[in-house]
Order: sequence, then structure tokens, then C-alpha cells
Amino acid sequence: MEPFDEVGAHVSSAGGVARAPARAAALGSVVLQLFTKQPSRWAERELEAERVAAFCAARIAHGIRLAASHDSYLINLATPDPELRERSYHAFRRELERCRALGLEFVVTHPGHATDGDLESGIARNAEAVERALEEVPAPTIVLFEGTAGGGRALGARFEQLAALIERVRPPLRARVGVCLDTCHLCAVGYDLCRDYDGVVQEFGDVVGPDRLRLLHLNDSAAPCGSRRDRHAHIGEGALGPEPFRRLMQDERLRPIPKIIETPKGEDERAHDLRNLARLRQYRTGQG
Ligand SMILES: [Zn+2]
Ligand SMILES: [Zn+2]
Repeated sequence: MEPFDEVGAHVSSAGGVARAPARAAALGSVVLQLFTKQPSRWAERELEAERVAAFCAARIAHGIRLAASHDSYLINLATPDPELRERSYHAFRRELERCRALGLEFVVTHPGHATDGDLESGIARNAEAVERALEEVPAPTIVLFEGTAGGGRALGARFEQLAALIERVRPPLRARVGVCLDTCHLCAVGYDLCRDYDGVVQEFGDVVGPDRLRLLHLNDSAAPCGSRRDRHAHIGEGALGPEPFRRLMQDERLRPIPKIIETPKGEDERAHDLRNLARLRQYRTGQG
């Protein structure tokens, strides 16, 4: 793939998903992430054919090279509670269907919580549900397990768990799963990007495999590293500071990986996003 500006933001879908590509373009981006529905509600959203067509037209008009969705925060595919698991499965399947209709490359999903403390069974249930959804909803959308901050009994904080989730999805469906790493979550878990950047990248490669990394979420952390708390901060202004982002942006191995910010939006969404993206672009050229 020819080089492209790989940084973008999670953009609002207010007024409909078809509005998202213009919001990404206003940030000078050709990559984006969005929600296809309200992420904190169970209510599903129907995507009528004209909405899908409008999204696709807007995507082409604004030259968007890659678009990802983030699934609902309520979904817990690892839960031992059969009722919640079934509800989660249906929500996830509907999400994947919307992503497919929109032609999105990726859907990012948080591994669930093994609320009974049995992590092994939680991983098995989570992987099985993803496998079932992939079986029922054809390509193109790839499911990315996002590394979590690891609070409570959240799965997916350690690289070993991300690897286990992937390995439990059987081929050929395994080709449609990957990983999204979030720098804030890595910090929360205690992966030391500040003092051992190369070590963390190496460890991910050894445990999960470098090719499994398909997307990065670039966020600084408002909580201290190792705190297991998921609090996003502006780039370079949190516990991570500028250095890990400088390394990431200048890392040739990660150059083709799309990088999405989910930093605080404040009163003026566009101004904050522009400032954070400008910082990342400066780090890439060594000017920041
Ligand atoms: Zn997330
Ligand atoms: Zn994230």
C-alpha cells in the first residue's frame, strides 16, 4: 500500500453515519472510527438502504481509506450469565451486520468480563461468540479484540489473553480476527511504553504475532500507569507524555497501521481533535 496519513479520530455519528466522513475530512484525515448506534444503550438501530448509500457516497467523496466501528460498551460475550450472553451476542451480531452493510474494514470489540473469575472459560465463551457471529455474517468486516485496561475481571488486558482469544477462533474464520491496541490501556495494565517501548512491541510480536495488530488507539492516560483505570487524556499530557507517541509515530514497523485518537472532546470537538492530531503529525516528522 502506498504511504498515507494514517492518523484520524473517533468522529461523531450525530445526524447519521453518513455525516462521519465529512467530520474526518475536516480533521485532514483519511481514516476514521465511529459508532453505528448509541454505544451505551441496548436499543438497536436499523440502517435503511438510503443511509448506507449516503455513507458510501460520503466515504468516496471524502477519500476515506479506512473506517472502523467500535461496538457497544454493554456487550459482554464472556459472561457466565446465559441471558446476558445471548443478549450480548445478538447486539454484537447486529453490530457486525451494520458494519458489513456499510463496508467497514474493522469492528473493535472489548473482550468481556469473566464475572465468575474463571478466565479460561470466559475466553472460550468470548471466542465462541465471535466465531459464531463471523460464521453468520459474511466478510468483509474484521473483528478486532481491543486490549483492555484490565479493571475488575475484564479479559484481554494481557497479550496472552488476546492471543488465546484469537487462537480459539478456528480457521478459516481466524483470518477475520485481529487486535487493536490502545496506548492508554497498555499504560493502565503496566506495559511500560515510557521506559521499555521496544520491549513492549517485541513482547506483543512474540506473544500475539506482529501481523495481528491491525489498529492502534492513541490516547494518553489521565490515571497513573499500572492503575488499571481507563481514563483517556490528551496526547502528551498524561502519564505517558510525549515520548512513547514520538516513538510510535516514527516506528516504521507501525507506519501502515491506522491510528485513531479517542482523546477528550471537551466543548469544541474539532479544535481538540485537530490539536491532538497536529501533535502526532509533528512527532512523525520529528518536529514536535
Ligand atoms: Zn475501546
Ligand atoms: Zn480504545
